[in-house]
Amino acid sequence: MRLANRGGRAVLVVDHLAYDVADITQGRFGPRPSSVLDRWEEFRAAVEQLAPMGGEVFELDQLGCPSPEPRQVFAIGLNYASHAAETGLGAPEVPAVFTKFPAALSGPVSTVELSGDTVDWEVELVVVIGIRADRVDEGDAWRHVAGLSVGQDLSDRTVQFAAGGQFSLGKSYRGYGPVGPWLVTPDEFVDPNDVAIGCSVNGVVVQQDRSSGLLFTIPALIAELSGVLPLLPGDLIFTGTPAGVGMAAQPARYLRPGDLLESWADGIGPLRTRCAAPAH
Ligand code: ZN
Repeated sequence: MRLANRGGRAVLVVDHLAYDVADITQGRFGPRPSSVLDRWEEFRAAVEQLAPMGGEVFELDQLGCPSPEPRQVFAIGLNYASHAAETGLGAPEVPAVFTKFPAALSGPVSTVELSGDTVDWEVELVVVIGIRADRVDEGDAWRHVAGLSVGQDLSDRTVQFAAGGQFSLGKSYRGYGPVGPWLVTPDEFVDPNDVAIGCSVNGVVVQQDRSSGLLFTIPALIAELSGVLPLLPGDLIFTGTPAGVGMAAQPARYLRPGDLLESWADGIGPLRTRCAAPAH
């Protein structure tokens, strides 16, 4: 199942058509995506009984972040060996966790004002929590996931590494968290632990990898995080980026006004993020 956010309303996406969740369930669920995610288990069971009617053609630029009102957004640094190596920072022994503040989130088609001249890309698989997870074991973790989406953990490297490191702020400028275009439920993947992700800048592929390369897998992250605090329906986890970021290129290369950053994962995408000059 694919679930998207069209104009603030939850929609099922089937074969290029969008079905309004509130309409097809006679108002039982929705209309907001957060209210669907809050009752995820019940919603999944109800949708299996439906033969939806009234699908509408839609454009990607009508869609927003599939979970637009997460109470918590987790993001994981250095979670692919290839990326840990390219940064010279080495692989961490525990997940390196920070947040992207929720107001930085945006949809799949967006224009992002660059905050400076060292803004970098980081394609990431994004987990959307569907069922509250509190002290969950790895073996039970996937059951708490509504779906996977693709996102960019856009990063102002100067701010990120200033003042001894402030990842959360440097990665939370306006629009620095594009996510979408939809979430895909785990059952849709051949193996949800082995999903291809990638991104390109102006049509040239810069990152390409598979989530089987995660140092801390999605179940491991859910177990680790839910051991500290409960994960709530609608929460997002940016799971980390593979090798190929601009900071690690020789010479380093960063996003410039006019650049088009496109991102994808298996069955998810594309995200189209256009870079614009900073506003004055
Ligand atoms: Zn990241």
